[in-house]
Amino acid sequence: KPITEQHLRCVVDCFSVEGEFAGALPYGSGHINDTFAAYYQLADGTSKRYILQRINTHVFKDPKAVMENVIGVTHYLGKEIVKAGGDPIRETLNLIATKNGEYYHVDEDGGFWRMYIFIEDTTTYQMVKNAADFYNSARAFGKFQLLLADYPAATLHETIPLFHNTVDRVRQFKEALAANATGRANDVCDEIEFVLAREADTHVLVDQLADGKLPLRVTHNDTKLNNVLIDNATGEGICIIDLDTVMPGLSLYDFGDSIRFGATTAAEDEPDLSKVNFDISLFEAYTKGYLEVAGKVLTANEIQNLPMGAKLMTLECGMRFLADHIAGDTYFKIHREGHNLDRARTQFKLVADMEQQWDEMHKVVKKYI
Ligand code: ATP
Ligand code: MG
Ligand code: MG
Repeated sequence: KPITEQHLRCVVDCFSVEGEFAGALPYGSGHINDTFAAYYQLADGTSKRYILQRINTHVFKDPKAVMENVIGVTHYLGKEIVKAGGDPIRETLNLIATKNGEYYHVDEDGGFWRMYIFIEDTTTYQMVKNAADFYNSARAFGKFQLLLADYPAATLHETIPLFHNTVDRVRQFKEALAANATGRANDVCDEIEFVLAREADTHVLVDQLADGKLPLRVTHNDTKLNNVLIDNATGEGICIIDLDTVMPGLSLYDFGDSIRFGATTAAEDEPDLSKVNFDISLFEAYTKGYLEVAGKVLTANEIQNLPMGAKLMTLECGMRFLADHIAGDTYFKIHREGHNLDRARTQFKLVADMEQQWDEMHKVVKKYI
């Protein structure tokens, strides 16, 4: 249902904001939530804007749990940033309370709304253009992990259960194979074989978590470049945003997913595999930035497993694309025939490249310990 101006007026009226509401405009290029900039006129003649968001409740079926996670993490971050002598208004998201003293408002249609302080004079980039951008985002995600190192991660809601449980992902993959809803499994034997040959790997991180050899951490789970606000003055990544998918997990999930999407020479859906290569220099840029900041809180075993994090997140993603291809493209939107198969193949190509450069990846990690 489209959001009318009248509706927006009603919503913002529930939040405890100084000044006179002057209107709201769609803002940014997020794909999940409805994001607006809400403008307010202040008594001194200046104006101020806030980020107003309606949570996508088709994606997040339990928005209350999402908000409890966001509240927990942002309040904790605020305190840690103050302790570290930073600016708690620019370096973390800050929720605005409602007039009822809550941090979200549920409208009459069941829409879930929240408001944040607008962090001014920053930019978000959509794509990794160079190693420096990637390095800056690594430092920002490293700082997120550093500041949240002592957060009681187990108290967070697992809003998407088993999200990066690679063992369970294999189970789901096999289910799609067995059902073979489209009959396509018969045409992708090499790709299926690629996954099944690596089934033992999918246990490596999950088992170490179960055995207490890897610590449960706060994970972001959407570590894209455009979820980092870059300070216009310094070029540094100052604030991690988009905390909807914050959950308990492994630091290696966030690290690995960043490498998966960033340390590559081609788009995720490039059909020409000769263009798709794992880029070890981008891997190095990210590893350097991440370890420079998070290195002091990560355990030796976490650091040792960074390459495995990269490989398993990439394998998992490929396996999900392939399962969806076989199931008939019911989860990931496709824009052409075989789109999910192309996507699966790029991921498997990256996994194969990583395996070939396994020793080099470990050497890079050692260099920045
Ligand atoms: P995605 O598609 O990445 O999941 P989303 O729909 O969850 O996006 P957000 O990433 O939370 O939405 O926000 C959309 C955009 O709004 C961001 O990319 C950023 O440009 C901007 N933005 C969000 N919060 C703030 C803030 N507090 N201050 C300034 N800009 C912000
Ligand atoms: Mg986002
Ligand atoms: Mg998001």
